[in-house]
Amino acid sequence: MPAEKNVQLWRPLLLSAAVTLALLSLIALSDRTPAPANAQTLQAAGPLKWYRGNLHTHSLWSDGDDYLESIALWYREHNYDFLGFTDHNILADKERWIDVEKSKGKQKAFDKLKQKFPDGWVEERKTEDKLETRLKTFREVADRFNEPGKFLLIQGEEISDAFQKFPVHMNANNVKELVVPRHGGSVAETIQNNTDALIAQRERTGQPMMIHLNHPNFGYGVTAEDLMRIRGENFFEVYNGHPGVNNSGNKEHASTERIWDIINSFRLSELKMPPLFGLSTDDGHAYHNIPSRASEPGRGWVMVLSESLTPESLIAAMEAGRFYSSSGATLDRVTSSAEGLDVSVKVDPDVKYTIEFLGTRRGFDSKSEPVLDKDGKEVRATRRYSDDIGKVLARAEGTTASYRFTGDELYVRARITSSRRHPNPSESGEFERAWTQPTIGPASK
Ligand SMILES: [Zn+2]
Ligand SMILES: [Zn+2]
Repeated sequence: MPAEKNVQLWRPLLLSAAVTLALLSLIALSDRTPAPANAQTLQAAGPLKWYRGNLHTHSLWSDGDDYLESIALWYREHNYDFLGFTDHNILADKERWIDVEKSKGKQKAFDKLKQKFPDGWVEERKTEDKLETRLKTFREVADRFNEPGKFLLIQGEEISDAFQKFPVHMNANNVKELVVPRHGGSVAETIQNNTDALIAQRERTGQPMMIHLNHPNFGYGVTAEDLMRIRGENFFEVYNGHPGVNNSGNKEHASTERIWDIINSFRLSELKMPPLFGLSTDDGHAYHNIPSRASEPGRGWVMVLSESLTPESLIAAMEAGRFYSSSGATLDRVTSSAEGLDVSVKVDPDVKYTIEFLGTRRGFDSKSEPVLDKDGKEVRATRRYSDDIGKVLARAEGTTASYRFTGDELYVRARITSSRRHPNPSESGEFERAWTQPTIGPASK
């Protein structure tokens, strides 16, 4: 209804001038396209700073090949601000001695540890013929490394569950207590049960914590259909640096980006759920030969615009979508508004950028078909959907680009691809990239 008509309706009521003015402004506001739920400008200003972090890390506490403190040092020396330790089904919170030679890092990791921490920090003992060392707990390492505003270690866990042969791995960050895998009668139920366990711990303890679904294509365990309906699970890894996790999918399996677009198209239309946010992480296990083709640190990270470098502030920022994910490209500014999405890339004179805006429009073709193998048997895989989903709506070359809504977008997100190859990619041929979170479009109201 046009604003003039609304005004006519109100006039006979002979309201005071002040009240009329207030009403007029309300009418004017309601007539405009409402701002999206995540309308905001992400740019460092005042107390808001970009913090770089990795939320997926393994150590000798599970199947990584280095000590917590050596890993923390690596990240601190490589310009990270925060790091979540997420070993498989264990918290580094007890006394534990390991046989140095039998450990994954062997004598080499131990020698490096002693060299990097020469001040009597390392504890060792001889039992029979074995040299043993005590693994430092998370608390001990965090007390040594955490420095307000400078560097933060976060206690986490990779809840490593499965349904039948399909892996279901979820990272819980800033946990207080171990989450024992909850299992379930399907992949989706397994994800939901672990999510519920983390939410229950958060509610019981009052400590902010976050859970995210890891590498959906590892063992092709998790499909878009499994993940789209999970309640309380609003993050997944669109990029994981481990070379064995199939970010790009294969002939039968959708890429993680495709999975992301399918999920958000349904969440923001018929499912009426919040959007899924995409994370980029390392999933580092191998710290002694960089670069190589193992799961090394430094491949993928998040940039969080936060008021402070604390778990509480970082988690609040991420839950509000105040972050982007990167495997090399750095952004200066991301603006989500009622008008559209604007992106500014940090200028690097040696590099050219392609900025693509991807999204799905209201009324998209939501039909899907199962994936069949060569014998016509259904494969457990994300179903095949139309090209309406996650369409490239616009593309630009340069360091800034804007997308203006035409009115029927459910969401739009930006993918920034650099002309520089990733220096240590998880898949061959990768270029450095960045991914913004989806901006809710006018058709999602
Ligand atoms: Zn995993
Ligand atoms: Zn992992």
